[in-house]
Amino acid sequence: ATMPPLLSAIANAGRHGVLVKSAVVMERLGQTDAVALDKTGTLTEGSPRVTDVRPLAGSALDEGGLLTLAAAAERPSEHPLARAVVDAARERGLDLPGAEDFTSAPGVGVTAVVKGRTVAVGAPARLLDDSGGTAAAVAGELEESGRTAVLVLVDGAPAGLLGIADRLRPDAAATVAALTTLTGTAPALLTGDNPRAAAHLAAEAGIDDVRAGLLPQDKLAAVQEMESAGRKVLVVGDGVNDAPALAAAHTGIAMGRAGSDLALETADAVIVRDELAAVPTTVALSRRARRLVV
Ligand code: ADP
Ligand code: MG
Repeated sequence: ATMPPLLSAIANAGRHGVLVKSAVVMERLGQTDAVALDKTGTLTEGSPRVTDVRPLAGSALDEGGLLTLAAAAERPSEHPLARAVVDAARERGLDLPGAEDFTSAPGVGVTAVVKGRTVAVGAPARLLDDSGGTAAAVAGELEESGRTAVLVLVDGAPAGLLGIADRLRPDAAATVAALTTLTGTAPALLTGDNPRAAAHLAAEAGIDDVRAGLLPQDKLAAVQEMESAGRKVLVVGDGVNDAPALAAAHTGIAMGRAGSDLALETADAVIVRDELAAVPTTVALSRRARRLVV
């Protein structure tokens, strides 16, 4: 027997490194007329590196001390920024103490108790009050240069900042262009990161529609808004923070290599080989199969 077109398309997608979970998904992908891309780990390589370690005067911590506390608190997290912080500490040969009472808030950061002190690591905009001060100024300076600024609070007080930089995927700009041609609409960028870092990266990738500083529920709301305007939205993401949007979208694709378990389970398809360009390829395969099914 000849294979039904949608099943051949699934096999074909598999050859391009994409695991499509069902024939229904394979069919729906071809209906995509709007795309929302996550930033960290999706548009970027997801292997960010710590470029700046800036203890604040008055914290009584040097660079090593700041990095030690931050890395100890981040160790249980699977977020790409957490891995960057832990790697930076290891590269400097720092000994990491254990952490207790770890908690994480998607789109915000983590907290843990390290050597009896409560350490919080995360987005300055979420962890600082409006009074600003030196911490906000240093964060602004790092973000101005396109870095993601990560704040470290020790027992509730700002102790320092880390600057983290991530690279655009080599196939990001080509993927954005291909999706624009295929769907007739330029993709949007949905990110929890700060507006300045997001704008830097979006410009490199050729994206104009940038929505930054989003919590997981804000990403969800953005997708729901597009869907209620009649769009069939394809969401591409990798994080726990993308899961609600992946679930609500017409279709969702997760980046598999470094993606969180929740994103992989929630998405309708998974990119197994780490290539973003597989997204437009899969949409095109679906289009072709649908023409044959009719
Ligand atoms: P994106 O939407 O681009 O994938 P996330 O929503 O995962 O980004 O993260 C948004 C912001 O929340 C990050 O830029 C960072 O400031 C903060 N954040 C989230 N998790 C962590 C973490 N484990 N360590 C440090 N910062 C974090
Ligand atoms: Mg992400």
